[in-house]
Amino acid sequence: MATKPTKKTTAAKPAGAKKPPAKKSAESMRRVPAGVPSHLVPLKSRIRTIPNYPKPGIQFRDITTLFQDPHGFRKLVDDLVQPYAGIRIDAVAGIEARGFIIGGAVAHQLSTGFIPVRKKGKLPWETVGVDYQLEYGTDRIEIHRDAIAKGGTVLLVDDLIATGGTALAAIQLLRSVGANVIGCSFVIDLPDLGGKKKIEKLGIPVQTLVEFEGE
Ligand code: AMP
Repeated sequence: MATKPTKKTTAAKPAGAKKPPAKKSAESMRRVPAGVPSHLVPLKSRIRTIPNYPKPGIQFRDITTLFQDPHGFRKLVDDLVQPYAGIRIDAVAGIEARGFIIGGAVAHQLSTGFIPVRKKGKLPWETVGVDYQLEYGTDRIEIHRDAIAKGGTVLLVDDLIATGGTALAAIQLLRSVGANVIGCSFVIDLPDLGGKKKIEKLGIPVQTLVEFEGE
């Protein structure tokens, strides 16, 4: 039975009511100039920066704007995969949560397995974990005890490297089960925080695609 379309009504505003402040549209926060064909836009311009998130002083590099752009997502995966084409890799390990999205796509392209490196208490079977230092307090990441066979080669992937604390913990964790971490790949590097250099000091090559100054 056909239903009658309902009439839309708008509540009358009392005279003199204040207009709510205009919200910034998602489009206005983009860094991509209008009219530039998507395939010509550099990766860096597709990343949105949100000031003072999640706390004052932090410039949050929001990669979801890059993910939602078909050319951008394709290019970031292609660029991360390129140095490893033809190299034997048993698994890509991705750090929760944005590392799952990037790492899953990279693993598919390299025809490898995938290891989720998860926050404490999320994995269903027996785990091994590593505690690591945050600015305030500690955190813990875990993998399944049987995530990779001894000697298996692993490429570690995440969206961003800052101090390197998370990635170094993930390397320690993967090594503790006998994995051979042959490289680390990140879309974004914050060079002022020194994480990339710390990993390179371990003798592990680090690939990053774009840099942002500051924190
Ligand atoms: P770190 O352990 O200091 O290298 O921090 C890296 C982790 O924290 C990554 O998983 C990032 O997703 C996240 N992260 C740190 N700083 C930022 C930032 N400015 N914008 C977005 N994510 C960040």
